[in-house]
Amino acid sequence: MDLALEQLSALAYYVIDPNKRLFIGYIVGALVFAGFVYFRNAKRNSSFLGFFRYVFPKKLWLHRSAKLDYQLFIVNRLLRALLWAPIVITMVPMALGLTDILEYMFGSIEPITSNSTVVIGSFTLLLFILDDFTRFILHYAMHKIPFLWQFHKVHHSAIVMTPITVYRSHPLESFLYATRMAIAQGTAVGVSYYLYGPQLSMLDILGANVFIFAFNVMGSNLRHSHVRWHWPTPIERWFISPVQHQIHHSIDKQHYDKNFGTALAVWDRLFGCLVLSKGIERIRYGLGSREKTHASLIDAYLRPLNAMLSFSKQSMAERSVTMQPMYNEEKQASVKRDTNTSK
Ligand SMILES: [Zn+2]
Ligand SMILES: [Zn+2]
Repeated sequence: MDLALEQLSALAYYVIDPNKRLFIGYIVGALVFAGFVYFRNAKRNSSFLGFFRYVFPKKLWLHRSAKLDYQLFIVNRLLRALLWAPIVITMVPMALGLTDILEYMFGSIEPITSNSTVVIGSFTLLLFILDDFTRFILHYAMHKIPFLWQFHKVHHSAIVMTPITVYRSHPLESFLYATRMAIAQGTAVGVSYYLYGPQLSMLDILGANVFIFAFNVMGSNLRHSHVRWHWPTPIERWFISPVQHQIHHSIDKQHYDKNFGTALAVWDRLFGCLVLSKGIERIRYGLGSREKTHASLIDAYLRPLNAMLSFSKQSMAERSVTMQPMYNEEKQASVKRDTNTSK
């Protein structure tokens, strides 16, 4: 009971933690850009009441799909504390291990520079790039590997989106993302420690990496929303705008497996899956014809596990089909051996 209360009160702290998407500064940023979109489109009929209705339509925020997001947001936090937080790897052993490996391979070296601007700047940038790239790779894998897609579908089955939808995920996916974070941060710290020595520090705003802070304050909460906050094409070729992530959630088949990136669009460009928002007017969210949406918390948690079980049954069945001829050959050989022995 104490644990439950502790975890629930931790959720309230998300609004004052700049390392969380729901930090008040990022919400204010999202409201400012939503206002920009509203007043630009509504023009003469605009009003502050109209803006409020535009941002908080009751039928969206109280939609069945949004209610499931809220439940997953809360229950996942409890499950995290109970199930996987104690077993997930952390950044420190990763970093120490990597520094040891580098020292073993290349010997220990003197810090390559003592210029603090270079050290802080490159370390901050490396942290950001590794974080963004590993997010891209894991997200790509969640779509392309059938077994992982069963879990990621929970996020994609949202048919309306609010900023809470970012937390709509299966606990196994959350575990994988936490492991990814430890690997990304551990690699950045381990390599930088080896090159620069212990004088590492990150350029931050209120404790958040300055690049991630900038990305979040530019309306990252609108990625999961109905507000079409898009950016000019030359910018969208480098950075993923909120509408580009909305396209990632589109039920339109030509948008499947596009725009996997979080902040940088370069990874999608490299993998040939970047879609720009220009010319795309209507976006409907969900799984479309791929599967019906998750109807409840139990459905969201258990359907991927059921799919995983049927995957393993199927692969066992396939294995036994391929083993059968080998088994028959083995049996015939053993009969022959027996026959030979009897001679
Ligand atoms: Zn996805
Ligand atoms: Zn999303």
